[in-house]
Formats: sequence, C-alpha cells, structure tokens
Amino acid sequence: MAKIKGNAISPTRREDYAEWYQQVVKAAELAEISPVRGCMIIKPWGYAFWENIQKGLDALLKAAGHANAYFPLFIPKSYLEKEAEHVQGFAKECAVVTHHRLEAGPDGSLVPAGELEEPLIVRPTSETIIGAVYAKWVQSYRDLPILLNQWGNVVRWELRTRLFLRTSEFLWQEGHTAHETSEEAWEETRRVLEIYRDFVENSLAIPVIAGAKTPGQRFPGAVETLCIEAMMQDCKALQAGTSHFMGQNFARASGIIYQSREGREEHAWTTSWGASTRLIGGAVMTHADDDGMVMPPRLAPAQVAILPIFRDPAGRRAVLGHAEGVAAALRRLDTAWGGKIEVVVDSREMNAGEKGWEWIKKGIPLRVEIGPRDMESDSVSVGRRDRSPREKYSLGREDFIASVPGVLREMQDGLFARARAFLEGHCREIDDPEEFRGYFTPKDPEKPEIHGGFAWSHWCGGRECEDRAAGDLSVTIRCLPPDREKSGPGKCIVCGGESPGRVPFAKSY
Ligand SMILES: [Zn+2]
Repeated sequence: MAKIKGNAISPTRREDYAEWYQQVVKAAELAEISPVRGCMIIKPWGYAFWENIQKGLDALLKAAGHANAYFPLFIPKSYLEKEAEHVQGFAKECAVVTHHRLEAGPDGSLVPAGELEEPLIVRPTSETIIGAVYAKWVQSYRDLPILLNQWGNVVRWELRTRLFLRTSEFLWQEGHTAHETSEEAWEETRRVLEIYRDFVENSLAIPVIAGAKTPGQRFPGAVETLCIEAMMQDCKALQAGTSHFMGQNFARASGIIYQSREGREEHAWTTSWGASTRLIGGAVMTHADDDGMVMPPRLAPAQVAILPIFRDPAGRRAVLGHAEGVAAALRRLDTAWGGKIEVVVDSREMNAGEKGWEWIKKGIPLRVEIGPRDMESDSVSVGRRDRSPREKYSLGREDFIASVPGVLREMQDGLFARARAFLEGHCREIDDPEEFRGYFTPKDPEKPEIHGGFAWSHWCGGRECEDRAAGDLSVTIRCLPPDREKSGPGKCIVCGGESPGRVPFAKSY
C-alpha cells in the first residue's frame, strides 16, 4: 500500500488536535459542513454509524420499559415561558418562527408574510410541549407512569460550530417520563444513567465517570442532573449523556396533576434524559488515530471490507466470485454481541493501495485483500485497524473465517482497555493550587499543546469557587461522583475551605 508516507491524516493529533479532528471526520466520510450555517450533513458512513448507535440504545431503553413516540418540532412561545429557569437557560439559543407564508416582493425576491399570532420556537428540547400533552393524558395514578422516548432533532443556535460536537441542529433521543412518587422518578433517573453508562462503555468502548452535576451545571429547571463524562485524547472532558430528575417543577409548570390513591390531587414527578450525535464526535476523539477513524467493531457500519485485487477483466471475474464466497461465509456468522457480521466487498476499479487507505481512514475493523495468488493458495491477507496500517498477516481462508468473531471481540475489548488506560493515566490528585494552575496552563499559550486531564481535587461546594476555576482556567467540575467521600476530606483547591471529598476538574467540550 504505497502512496502514503507517514500518516494518512495531517496534521497529527499532537500537531493540532482541533484540526486533526476535522480532518478525520472528513477523511472518514462521516459528515461535512452544510451550506446552512451551523448545520451539518451526515454522510452515509456517519449515518450508518448513527443508526447502529440508535439501534443499540433503543433496544436497551425498550428493554427497560420505554416506548417511542413523536411530538411536534415547534413549541408555542408561551409553553417555553412556563418554567422560568428553563426559559432562561435556552432563550439565548432559540430559532423563532414568526411567519407562515412567503410572498413575491416587488423585486422578485420572497418576503415573509402571514405573521403568526404567537411565534413558534423550533424545539431546543421538548419538556414543555410534552409536559402540556402529559397534562391532558394524566388524570389518575392509574395513568402513571408514562415512559416515552422520542428520536428526533433539536435546534440550539450556535455561532461557533464543530461537526458532531456543537452544531445548531443535531439528532438525539430525548426521554420524558412521569411518575407517581419522587422515589420512582429518582429510580428512573438513575436507571437511565446506568443504561447510558452501559451503552457508552460496552458498545462505544468509551470509559466514563458517572456522577451528579454541580448546581451551577444542572439542566435548566432540573432538581438534579446526572451525567456520564468521558475523556478525549486531548485530555478534555466530553459529557456523553445526561439524565435529569425534575422533581415536580415541570409538572407544576405544565399542570400534570393526578388523583392519588388517597383521592388527593397531586403533581406528578418527571424525568428527562438525552444522548445525541455528539457520541459520534466522542467516538472519533476517543478511538481515532493519525491514520483516521477507528470504529468500535460492535457499532461499526460494517466489520469487514473485502478488497479484491485484479489486473484484467478475466482476473476480476474470478477474484470477485471468490471474494463474494468469503463474504457470504462471513455474513452467516454471529458477532459476539448478537446480530450478523456486516461485510462490504469493494469491487471498485481503482488502485488497490488507495482503496485500502480509504477503508483505513473510515476505520473499518478488518481489511481483507484477496488477489489471484491468495486464491491459488486458498488464503487471505488481513489488516486489523487496531494495528499499524502496514502490518498484515496471511491466513488460510477457512481459518480466517472462523477467527473473525473472536478477533472482533478482542478488538472491541482492546479499544476499551486502551481508552481506559488513557483516562486513568491522565487523572491526577492535586492539592496544591499552584500545581493545579500549572496542570491546566499550556506551555505555549499561542498554540496550546495537549495538556491537563482530570484533576481530582477538593471542592468546598461553593458556587464562587466553581466560578473562579471556570473563569481563570476554563476548568469545570465535571461531576460529583457518588462515592466522592471515599477519597477522604480535604481543603478546597480554590478557597481552602472544608471539602468532603475529591471531584474531577477538567477542561471540556
Ligand atoms: Zn472553596
């Protein structure tokens, strides 16, 4: 596989991490910037990855008793105004529809006409519209719980966009549940966080830290926000999923009232939770390397690419027939996670080296080359994406086919182990404020190198200390782990006040 010297992606992670990320997304054909400012086009390979994320997460949510439904894209402005904190939290990033018609203007342009009596907001999240509907659906405790999920899109106006990580429109799922008691709603909030942790760690192979957000970082209107936090290869944190306990705030705002078992009128207890196409960005920044994307085998759009090598039409027919035979045998096999192995036979007429590099950049777990010589010896030449692109091994056809489910499992586990070692290797207990400052300050402020990680330091619980860390160093407390007190008490890294245990501070996306 000639042509490429050094790495397939330029710049490398170390040279310019942000630009490397954009180049990987492009080279892997996951997404591109659209003509509409702030919005992305998800390309077939990226969308197939998203569909597998959907399938996996959807199955876990359904197994926990949730059903899917769909609610409107538009939310009347008055709905959004019902919950004061909620409206404050989202007001600055709302797209507002004020007209419902276009008319020809004098110069042939189109002019908005038919002003709406009440403006509509393109949903930034659907608590308020779903709350209004639940208020109609719920009369008695017998109507509870409601456990619904919605797959859809939302809009949060962004001026500085980054594909998958920050775009004005993104795809996600948002779950909204209503319960009879606080305990039930809490149980739901925790159950879904555990589903997210399970999915992100075991399917996306991204290790996370789970915990509760500090009051300052909660979802607008929530009583408590639980989250999972991952570490990217530039040592910044990425929030990978959130689950909110709303208490009765949204039930009060929307009027979700039920008659209790004792015949009293009570407000329901609600939760909401979401995970988005951001997970794709997280997978890129966790697993990709300087040669492109590295797909976790369990969610890869395909696990094996077969690359037939031929020189003339007659050779092409023979090799293609043989390659299809290998593909058919592979497609009959189950993966370690259930479901069949997905195989692509890439029969395009192009340079074999270039073709190989395309699949490396897309992150396909296994590349299999089959040429006339391999056919003669009934063997195949295999490249694994978790090894150097230049490393290949030859194996008898039957032996190779039998090995694939096990190799994919090994690669999946290997990716997770590598990411976990990275996370653990970039956690540091810091008690000295100067060391803390140094940890989060790049040596080259003009062109910051990769630095920092998760600083496990003490925090007194004061909002001011949190704000000061955020202001001075762009560092936030990622979460309050449930076993925080295990680390023992200490002194707040900012003010020196009493702290019951360490929390992870980090820069973040
Ligand atoms: Zn403090």
